[in-house]
Amino acid sequence: MANTTQHKGTCSYCGEIITKRGVAKHLSNCNDRKNVLEKAGRKKEDPETLLHLRVEDAYRKEFWFDIEMRASATLKQLDSYLRAIWLECCGHMSEFMAGRGRTSRETIAMRHTVDDVFADYKQLLHIYDFGTSSETAIKFVGMREGIPAKIKPIVLLARNIMPETSCIECGNPAKWLCMECLIEEEEWGTLCGEHTDTHPHGNYGEPIRLVNSPRLGMCGYEGPAEPPY
Ligand SMILES: [Zn+2]
Ligand SMILES: [Zn+2]
Ligand SMILES: [Zn+2]
Ligand SMILES: [Zn+2]
Repeated sequence: MANTTQHKGTCSYCGEIITKRGVAKHLSNCNDRKNVLEKAGRKKEDPETLLHLRVEDAYRKEFWFDIEMRASATLKQLDSYLRAIWLECCGHMSEFMAGRGRTSRETIAMRHTVDDVFADYKQLLHIYDFGTSSETAIKFVGMREGIPAKIKPIVLLARNIMPETSCIECGNPAKWLCMECLIEEEEWGTLCGEHTDTHPHGNYGEPIRLVNSPRLGMCGYEGPAEPPY
């Protein structure tokens, strides 16, 4: 499986399939986005600084998405968004750290606004759950002045397409994950619909549905891996 396939994503405005590397370029040319921004520009509101951020799993770079965030929004609001789209299983603790994280040991309080934080750092590390940790890198991509198109503090710009996996029994596209394979044999036991019935494992219940999140299979995470708004 070529990496290039795995790093593809979808533009949230027009639905076009784009590369992870080409997001900013596509967005600057996307006609559907231009229309949305033009419409927002006619609203009688003051323009605001909007930050383009790249979010990606710290280790599995095929999981990524780009957001635009109001500069006045807080890390707490970013944390809520990350939990909803990728992370939340049992309400674990989380925190943001400066730079690439753990080595810097500099925790940044959630009450800080993103313009303050990204004035000082180009990158943050978000850690969710200090037991079975999920680590997410948040990188500054760019900023612009504009009237936000939506009331919510975060807009999803583009997101990775869920990496394709095949059934360990037959090689057809997989939709399910066997937790017994994972926990007892440390194998990524992906299954097609047909083989969820005949696969011999059942000690950890029915296989769980594959969803577009790097936390799948960790702790009690089962999705839904959908953005909160
Ligand atoms: Zn587009
Ligand atoms: Zn959990
Ligand atoms: Zn199968
Ligand atoms: Zn299994």
